[in-house]
Amino acid sequence: MKNILFIAPPAGGKGTISSKLVHDYGYIHISSGDLLRSVDKKSDLGLVIEEKISKGELVSDEIIFSLLEDKLRNLKGKAFILDGCVRNINQAKKLTEILKVIDINLDLVILLNVPYESLLKRVLGRQNCPNCKEVYNIYTKKPLNEGICDRCQNNLILRSDDNEETFKVRYQNYLNSSKDIIEYYQNAGILVSIDGENDPYKSLVSVIK
Ligand code: ADP
Repeated sequence: MKNILFIAPPAGGKGTISSKLVHDYGYIHISSGDLLRSVDKKSDLGLVIEEKISKGELVSDEIIFSLLEDKLRNLKGKAFILDGCVRNINQAKKLTEILKVIDINLDLVILLNVPYESLLKRVLGRQNCPNCKEVYNIYTKKPLNEGICDRCQNNLILRSDDNEETFKVRYQNYLNSSKDIIEYYQNAGILVSIDGENDPYKSLVSVIK
């Protein structure tokens, strides 16, 4: 199986696609956002992280890689999907270094294209299950019972950064940094672009096979 990295705007759908790949093919899903959100919010590190996330700003590369490296070293031969990392060119270079040391190849970089208006709608309607990570949307994918996860019955929550103000910062960050990252992986010859609104999962499956 191919090791995959996603480049996508915030709320671009990488989490949803990743969970399908995990279900259908047994991929290990490594989401930098989930890793950050799983740090105890009352710890010193958790407080630093939450402050950045709630403003839509990037957490330091040092924190990201301290959480990520552990995961990458413990794959035990399984294929991975990297979601949310890399977010700038330094992270891309650092990832290349780490993968080289661990002796793992990155095979495919998927660029998901989604227009701004659709992203905003996804963000403002999004509800998440903190337990099983299922994602709902009050406009497009309502849970059967309001505020309750269909899969595990946990209460759904809103992310602290899913509001219009923070989304604008996150989107601007993405625009500023994605150009360099895209070029970096284009030069490596592993970048594939996919329409994020037109059955992206189907397109993706045809590329990973
Ligand atoms: P989204 O893609 O919708 O923004 P994520 O869960 O990937 O959601 O990220 C949420 C937040 O976590 C980001 O806005 C940022 O503050 C932080 N974050 C996630 N991944 C990284 C990363 N690789 N580098 C720096 N900050 C990150």
